[in-house]
Amino acid sequence: MLTVEGLRSHYGRIEVLHGIDLHVGPGEIVAVVGANGAGKTTLLRCLSGVQPVTTGTITFRGEPLTQVAAYKRVGRGLAQSPEGRQIFTNLSVEENLRLGAFLFRDDKVVKDMQDTFQMFPVLKEKRNLSAGGLSGGQQQMLAIARALMGRPSCLLLDEPSMGLAPILVQQIFEVVKGLKASDVTVLLVEQNAFGALKIADRGYVLENGKVGMEGAADALIADPRIREAYLGV
Ligand code: ATP
Repeated sequence: MLTVEGLRSHYGRIEVLHGIDLHVGPGEIVAVVGANGAGKTTLLRCLSGVQPVTTGTITFRGEPLTQVAAYKRVGRGLAQSPEGRQIFTNLSVEENLRLGAFLFRDDKVVKDMQDTFQMFPVLKEKRNLSAGGLSGGQQQMLAIARALMGRPSCLLLDEPSMGLAPILVQQIFEVVKGLKASDVTVLLVEQNAFGALKIADRGYVLENGKVGMEGAADALIADPRIREAYLGV
């Protein structure tokens, strides 16, 4: 589904990604975890096309993506739910969802909206309310739901648990896990390594702009180095 090879990226003269290799298979949930500043957000920004890639390649569904403009990547089936949610707080919940479907003018948008409301009943309940009035957890659900309205085959999620109370963090991870049933492939970037690896099939640990470790999520959770450095146990 998604393959990244030798990816390097700079801010000005400073290189922050030093040759990342990773892949995400169809239907997988893959977690990218790592400390603050490890390069997780930069990696996702390279994938969605808003951060320049210096060298290396990104291949998506068998086609080169590295030179494709960001706005065209959504049309290819790669959607991002950005860090900090970035929902439109002055618009209603339903208007936010409609914007997620901006590429489509077909009748299926209505059906997609119904499916979305089935997946997120709280959004249906609040569909006519301003998105700014939703709680943090509900706004995160809206950000994910809006990305899904773009009918992605692969969803990039940047820190969906950030800033949420523990009970909501659990809920959001359950929502992400549930995406498997909808055949959506997920690349999940998280500082909450334990929560992310618990729902992931595989994981990558980013350390200072490089992949430090990778493997099956269960194996990473069980690894003493990961437990000590990232899981606090
Ligand atoms: P966080 O969880 O805090 O978002 P991260 O793993 O996502 O961390 P990045 O935000 O990708 O890490 O940052 C990687 C490195 O790039 C850090 O050293 C950071 O200071 C630097 N960096 C990030 N954004 C910029 C920028 N706009 N200009 C210069 N350097 C930046």
